[in-house]
Amino acid sequence: MATNRTFTMLKPDAVEKGHIGAILEKITASGFRIVAMKLTQMTTADAQEFYAIHKERPFFGELVEYMTRGPIVAAILEKDNAVEDFRTLIGATNPADAAEGTIRKLYAASIGENAVHGSDSDENAAIEGAFHFAGREMF
Ligand code: UDP
Ligand code: MG
Repeated sequence: MATNRTFTMLKPDAVEKGHIGAILEKITASGFRIVAMKLTQMTTADAQEFYAIHKERPFFGELVEYMTRGPIVAAILEKDNAVEDFRTLIGATNPADAAEGTIRKLYAASIGENAVHGSDSDENAAIEGAFHFAGREMF
């Protein structure tokens, strides 16, 4: 995968609250091109693997419960400087600390249920995109 791509998930809370359309509008209006996208639901094993880096953290169990409780929208996005620019667009992990106008400031309820995922590096963007999509699902 090219390094001008990132990976995102609109998390179960955002889907439950009906925010898919509003969040996708913000993403595309910010200059990201959708390379791949689907509505899907992670199994417990999927979420444990996806978030394996956090497995020793105290919130891991809650995180897996949350991320598996309903469907998500998974997507690969393309833009110059995609990883960093998308992290700026979504805002801080804790919505209380997120800048005005960011997706988490607008749509996240708490540090746990924070509406959206964004990859933290080009390497992880490639790994996470490949976790959710086959090559023939990427455009
Ligand atoms: N999380 C949580 N409690 C915390 C920190 C993180 O429940 O104290 C959850 C939250 O959903 C977050 C995810 O775990 O988005 C991954 O954490 P990370 O530190 O990677 O934050 P992110 O990269 O998503 O901003
Ligand atoms: Mg992270």
